[in-house]
Amino acid sequence: MTKKQYDIAVLGELLIDFTPVGVSEKGNPIFERNPGGGPANMACAAARMGAKPYFIGKVGDDPFGRALKKTLEDQGVDAGGLLLDREAPTTLAFVHLDETGERSFSFYRRGGADTLLRPEEADAGILDRSRFFFCSSVMMAEGPSRETSFFLMREARRRGTPVVFDPNLRPNLWADGEEMRRIVRQALPLADFLKVSEEEAQFLAGEAETEAAAAALQKEFRPRLLLVTLGAEGVLAFAGKHPLRVPGFRVNAVDTTAAGDSFTGGFLAALLASGREPEDLAPEELRAVLRTANAVGALTASRKGSISALPDKEETGRFLAEREG
Ligand code: ADP
Repeated sequence: MTKKQYDIAVLGELLIDFTPVGVSEKGNPIFERNPGGGPANMACAAARMGAKPYFIGKVGDDPFGRALKKTLEDQGVDAGGLLLDREAPTTLAFVHLDETGERSFSFYRRGGADTLLRPEEADAGILDRSRFFFCSSVMMAEGPSRETSFFLMREARRRGTPVVFDPNLRPNLWADGEEMRRIVRQALPLADFLKVSEEEAQFLAGEAETEAAAAALQKEFRPRLLLVTLGAEGVLAFAGKHPLRVPGFRVNAVDTTAAGDSFTGGFLAALLASGREPEDLAPEELRAVLRTANAVGALTASRKGSISALPDKEETGRFLAEREG
């Protein structure tokens, strides 16, 4: 693996998640301002695990956007590709909890800065200086950012920079589910490494059973590496002909927000540290990389929050050593 200036060029949404934290003296709900966005979580997880990510995106030139930029930088992510838009606001999402603790979201994204990144605003040259390019489907839901996502995916392929795609499906950000499926399936052939959850594999393949869904995705889209995450059960990987199942770690999961994102960040950091291509790793070596990714996901799930819940390299190393025996 040749060394590049950056390990991962990350394109993605960066937004504010307002999460409920109780009730004020006046009896009104109180919300806490949290950084949000799957690709941002992934970039921060990779940085904490020792990788060098570069972030591409757009936020509003407002206190929310500026705080988000600072969060990335504080976490060790180069925010050189993050634009601050004077006209458009930073996208907001509010989390609501009903009486049973069930979560629902209201998004304030129409015209949000993260949907407005135009292809000519993204520096495709960064792809030559990055070992991987990562993106998800949230930027494809609406606005010029859809075109920019496809533009950078194609540019990465043309320049020989492997594309890592995590669909990270969010149906309520799309006009309708059928459009989401159609657009995301257009992106799948551009993915060198494809990471999906079980539900996403089933939805995208149109198969009710996980192994059949994974086989169908492999056959149709031929990614070099397919990772199907199984929550607490770990991950199913297809790097060659034979699937590799790597069980997850038993932890007291209190909040699985960002578990999938941190899994991918941990995976890419561990793969980079191996210095090898996934298909060149022996099964035991790939297993070790995926064990690290599972550990990062499990540690993230064991704490509340997203970026604030991410483990670093030392903590992950200690966790793995403890679980070894
Ligand atoms: P997503 O968060 O994208 O829905 P998953 O729920 O499959 O994806 O979780 C991603 C990874 O995070 C899993 O493969 C696993 O390594 C880890 N993980 C998630 N939930 C748990 C859990 N409850 N216990 C241990 N590990 C977990």
